[in-house]
Amino acid sequence: MSIDIESIRKDFPILEQTVHGKPLAYFDNAATTQKPTQVIDAISEVYTTYNSNIHRGVHHLSNVCTQAYEDARVKVQKFINAGNSHEVIFTRGTTEAINLLATSFGESFLKKGDEIIVSQLEHHSNIVPWQLLEKSKGIVIKVIPINENGELILEEYDKLLSEKTKLVAVAHISNALGTINPIKTIIDKAHALSVPVMIDGAQAVQHVAVDVQALDCDFYVFSGHKLYGPTGIGALFGKEEWLNKMEPYHGGGEMIKTVSFSGTTFNELPFKFEAGTPDYSGAIGLGAAIDYVQNIGLDVIAAYEHELLEYATEQLKQVPNIKFYGTAKEKASVISFMVNNIHPFDMGTLLDKMGLAVRTGHHCAQPLMEHYQIPGTVRASFAIYNTKEEIDRLVEGIKRVSLLFA
Ligand code: PLP
Repeated sequence: MSIDIESIRKDFPILEQTVHGKPLAYFDNAATTQKPTQVIDAISEVYTTYNSNIHRGVHHLSNVCTQAYEDARVKVQKFINAGNSHEVIFTRGTTEAINLLATSFGESFLKKGDEIIVSQLEHHSNIVPWQLLEKSKGIVIKVIPINENGELILEEYDKLLSEKTKLVAVAHISNALGTINPIKTIIDKAHALSVPVMIDGAQAVQHVAVDVQALDCDFYVFSGHKLYGPTGIGALFGKEEWLNKMEPYHGGGEMIKTVSFSGTTFNELPFKFEAGTPDYSGAIGLGAAIDYVQNIGLDVIAAYEHELLEYATEQLKQVPNIKFYGTAKEKASVISFMVNNIHPFDMGTLLDKMGLAVRTGHHCAQPLMEHYQIPGTVRASFAIYNTKEEIDRLVEGIKRVSLLFA
């Protein structure tokens, strides 16, 4: 495999620091990834050379900035292989994209008694927006259960699908367990009943190539900051036939064609869903992040991360009394575990003293923790800049902490 990790690491200046006197090893990539200089520079360039509000300007800077923003939209389109760039709506991230969908799809298509299917392993942002609709509209949420490995039980999904189902909304990859869900099967089964499907790709686009046309999903959402891009930007892909029929989400500038007190008409896609001044520097930064991962190659990234996952899993098995949560056959580079009954918070705090950054807690997936009847886990998630040497340090650190508690 042709991958030069040392040169990749040089793109991430933040990784060069020490924490508590130890070299930083950053394993919290499922929460957010670090940013390469290519992304930082692209954002800096906006503000040092062409910052100007977009779309409505006639002057030079506004035109340059508008072009850069729309170029970023095309990059997102190509990245997920959407058919049209106007099917890409910029949002603040996955959370806002799902809230947009819940509000606008809910307003346009849902009524009391309609059912939405999610799964047991969803992030809160793919649960709570639907619960708000449960409250406001009386819709009903159905949940696909999981088995002990953290895989969706598809036979149960079959039983939940019915003529009452109006939307299926599931994660592509679980943030807490790393499970890669069989989304193509999930989509095909829903479509057999003409039910649209939204895929939460927050944990996927940085690990696997996504082709929304091949998947034939109706909506796909993700965040820039988990893809080496800036915070505060993400995207909602939606098939134009759905987006055209959906009510707008926010009202304001740019999303209108004409405004009058006797009635307002709305703009065409994608602007209908982008009220107000958008985060154009964020979108341009996201475009730079997409360039960055594409230059390395998502297949190369996926293969390297898989190697790290396998290595880390094997090494961690040597830790006495470790219990893994999430042992699906198809997994992304996320490892969730507990050692003895050491509270994840204690483990995380002590690892931090060794310069090892992991995430601890419920990972915004409390229903999943409820399933396993645990308060939370320790989670190490790997990205393109992690190394086997760092994993060795992590394993050593975990062994030291568990000896301390023995
Ligand atoms: N969905 C999944 C699977 C996630 O992992 C996350 C974040 O961790 C989100 C949604 C929410 O993403 P954001 O906070 O970027 O909106």
